[in-house]
Amino acid sequence: MKTRAKIVTLKPGKEKSLARRHPWIFSGAIAKVEGEPASGETVRIVGSDGGFLAHAAFSPQSQIRARAWSFDAQEPIDAAFFQRRLKTALDYRAAMSIDADAWRLVHGECDGLPGLVVDRYADQLVVQFSSAGAEAWREVIADALVELSGVPNLYERSDADVRTLEGLPVRTGPLRGKAPVGPIVIREHAIKIEVDVPGGHKTGFYLDQRENRRRVFEAVQGMRDAEMLNCFCYTGAFSLAMLKGGAKSVLSIDSSGPALQLARANMELNGLDASRAEWLEADVFKALRELRDAGRSFDAIVLDPPKFAPTPATVERASRAYKDINLLALRMLKPGGLLFTYSCSGGVSPELFGKIVAGAGTDAGVDARIEARLSAGPDHPMLLSFPEGEYLKGLVLRRL
Ligand code: SAH
Repeated sequence: MKTRAKIVTLKPGKEKSLARRHPWIFSGAIAKVEGEPASGETVRIVGSDGGFLAHAAFSPQSQIRARAWSFDAQEPIDAAFFQRRLKTALDYRAAMSIDADAWRLVHGECDGLPGLVVDRYADQLVVQFSSAGAEAWREVIADALVELSGVPNLYERSDADVRTLEGLPVRTGPLRGKAPVGPIVIREHAIKIEVDVPGGHKTGFYLDQRENRRRVFEAVQGMRDAEMLNCFCYTGAFSLAMLKGGAKSVLSIDSSGPALQLARANMELNGLDASRAEWLEADVFKALRELRDAGRSFDAIVLDPPKFAPTPATVERASRAYKDINLLALRMLKPGGLLFTYSCSGGVSPELFGKIVAGAGTDAGVDARIEARLSAGPDHPMLLSFPEGEYLKGLVLRRL
């Protein structure tokens, strides 16, 4: 027998965000919870007048107490619902002409599936469940993913910090099919990259920068005898784009030894002359100062730091950190040189990021032309109703 969904009633005036189709319901917006819904249980969210607002997944411990699955009262949340949503997400990517064999198949809230991320690396799928709701439908989602994609191997990387906020344990390992044996080689336009699925960052790699790496590859072509710098290089994907594009030399910096080891392997995989690349295991803040003091300058610089502002409370400190590295980079850029600078902090809006970088230019005494404003690739969709999805932004600057 089908049981009726428990009802979660919002406080008066707290309906607005859901009415705008933003999927998060914060604990402070809730007036009353009927019974004790389990973690991930589907509940019915109603306004203070009792009117239907959404079907949502309940998360008893999280500040985001519920996440909406559907704003349609008639749409049941069952296996068929997940099959439909996943099919829509996969079909959307299939219609794109992505010049690579690795892309994001499901991008959480932006694909109508809060807390679910799925990446494809050649013949390996990697999934991350980071909300109580996604977790509750794990088996249904895993079956549907394998069936819809035709890829039998699905690895789970449910080890993001946010799981703790949802009261969920860390879990990694093969979920369907076989676990990868060693790194997986993917192709991204002109370059090949080894991805460490069980041990790498996130699901193993930063797919959101794919189109921006291609842009770097294209922009640096034709630069003669160019010396380039890649800060926060991880496994060297931007460095490879620079080297393939014709850089004379690239200095790459990251604080992670294992990432740099993979970066060196990636040089070899691409048949690139190892003498053109220098890999430095160091703190970028410190290394940039040392390079400045040594009087170094570069024809192109990439700054792709980690999320400096993981929460709203950290935005101010993060802004100072962004300004610091951008200031140092602009000073070390040769006239006519290019700076590719990014921020993946959701709390730092594109406008704020623009202001921070402009402030860095002023303090550095450097003027530059904005040649492009960038975001994540199209396989990381953005919704009008979910500004948090616009987390990655970047600028291409040419020093005048
Ligand atoms: N540009 C990369 C992704 C960068 S992710 C790509 O295209 O794949 C951010 C990287 O910054 C991680 O590899 C992390 O190890 C590194 N990192 C974080 N803090 C750092 C610091 N203070 N100094 C140097 N590297 C740092």
